[in-house]
Amino acid sequence: MATATLTIDLDAIAANWRALDRLTGPEVQTAAVVKADAYGLGVTRVARTLAHAGARRFFVAYAEEGAAVRQALGPGPQIAVLSGHCPGDTEMIHDLDLTPMLNSLEQITRHLEALPGHPFGVQLDTGMNRLGVDGTGLPRSLAATGGILLGSRYHFDLTRPGVGLYGGLPYVAAQPVVRLSLPVIQTREVEVGEAVGYGCTWVADRPATIATVAAGYADGLPRTLSNRARLWDGDVACPVVGRVSMDAITVDVSHLAEVPRALDILGPMQGVDALAELAGTIGYEMLTSLGARYQRRYQERGA
Ligand SMILES: *Cc1c(COP(=O)(O)O)cnc(C)c1O
Repeated sequence: MATATLTIDLDAIAANWRALDRLTGPEVQTAAVVKADAYGLGVTRVARTLAHAGARRFFVAYAEEGAAVRQALGPGPQIAVLSGHCPGDTEMIHDLDLTPMLNSLEQITRHLEALPGHPFGVQLDTGMNRLGVDGTGLPRSLAATGGILLGSRYHFDLTRPGVGLYGGLPYVAAQPVVRLSLPVIQTREVEVGEAVGYGCTWVADRPATIATVAAGYADGLPRTLSNRARLWDGDVACPVVGRVSMDAITVDVSHLAEVPRALDILGPMQGVDALAELAGTIGYEMLTSLGARYQRRYQERGA
């Protein structure tokens, strides 16, 4: 198998939702944010898992994403669309029973004229100058993952955790959700003075065994990881040497007794935020950049 394997622990996602739900009072409802294909992890399986765990409200960025969630969940759960009611959305909002979170007078007018009586929410401007209008609305919701952790004064009626469900900061106590295992497709012995990778950014100062693994920046593993990141054989670290290329990463495995079939770049020893920091970005970007070429494997013990 020459493609990398992304393992997604659905039980961990369910456990993270339950744990975030327990952080708020019984009168506070906990939604689930599943925009951007559930932060890159696959919205169909993730939304079903969260519904099974008890989530009854789901947030997406766009009506098209809401359509995928409705398809996954069937009728019943509320699916809220953060971009509101945009031109061209009316049919989808109506047919799939989506709830637009209206964020301008123009949207409110559009919604009330096109779909009178159809449910909606209103987004208020919290000072981020992003989306939102000034005024008042009900039920009140302020907190994303970070807001839940701030305490009950920030919880209001409904919370909207996203990244915490998927094992990312700021939810330090999250169970890890993803593991990314990259198969070794070639092993080479290099002599002192030989360079590895484009631009010759790494030169062997001793004889070394270099493994090439099958993933690169086309798979969401940025070039900024070049000569910085580590891959893992169990709990043994193996440094990336040379530049990350489009489809390959080279790793110094000289110290291993045996070259394994695959090395982990995400897993128990290095989570999304640790890898993101090495790449100079944040866990959110790392997760949502995870590529389409991975073989995705969903792990679930079952109900
Ligand atoms: C993305 C998003 C969230 C979830 O934020 P996290 O930090 O991932 O928990 C909540 N609310 C809105 C409006 C969002 O856009």
